[in-house]
Amino acid sequence: MSLSIKDALDWARQQLASNAELTDAALDSRVLLSYLLDKPVSYFMTWPERCLSQSQFQQLQSWVERRCSGEPVAYIVGEREFWSLPLAVNESTLIPRPDTECLVETALSLSLPQQARVLDLGTGTGAIALALKSERPNWHITAVDQSAQAVELAKGNAERLELEVEVLQSNWFQALNDAPAFDLIVSNPPYIADDDEHLHQGDVRFEPRSALVAGQSGLADLNHIAAGGYPHLQPGGWLLLEHGWQQAQAVITLLREFGYKNVNIWRDYGNVERITGGQKVK
Ligand code: GLN
Repeated sequence: MSLSIKDALDWARQQLASNAELTDAALDSRVLLSYLLDKPVSYFMTWPERCLSQSQFQQLQSWVERRCSGEPVAYIVGEREFWSLPLAVNESTLIPRPDTECLVETALSLSLPQQARVLDLGTGTGAIALALKSERPNWHITAVDQSAQAVELAKGNAERLELEVEVLQSNWFQALNDAPAFDLIVSNPPYIADDDEHLHQGDVRFEPRSALVAGQSGLADLNHIAAGGYPHLQPGGWLLLEHGWQQAQAVITLLREFGYKNVNIWRDYGNVERITGGQKVK
């Protein structure tokens, strides 16, 4: 049996729509087919009658089955775009989110030296570090992650995108004791409380808990980074932290407590208080 692109899309959409949890069956089917055929979505409009091969349809069936059981599209196709950069992703890291592009934008809006030294803590796929490097080729960027698989993934992404970022395995600041101070430290650390019910819904169920959940109601790592970051900053250097939608006030308190000045909040595209940052002034 041979199936046209149009029929394959209809079939996939119907299958996916039978799982009420999947809220955008049409988009998911287009993305799956686009990766499967290695063609842009516009190709489907131009060639709806072209047929899939038997093996392509089998592959689609297996992908649709995985998606029906809740697996994130990004893990199935092995890629997610962030800041227009195609990044390889796998189960060892968080899937980069559009919210985090707000952290990148905020970092780019700061007044920093031409050749700023920048640190990305808990880099995962390398998303933040690579986005910054793509915009500021003169910055010297170090990215760390405690997971060896994440380090490998981020290094691979850096190589494929030809963006020079130093990637190290480190539990937060551990491997950085001898590193010269930074002009900017950024992080999207785990910040979800372990009893947050949204951990049982959607894509996050498949993501590594260690990248999502932190103690002290989600504040433990934010606290650790705020405290540990201060001695690693140059005078005039900034710390920018992504956090949960209800954590801005707590993070402001933390930053002030540890001596940061010019503490500020930035909102994400959903108008949620998403980034809090402060500066070491002396
Ligand atoms: N923003 C992510 C979410 O809500 C969590 C990311 C994180 O913990 N750093 O799913």
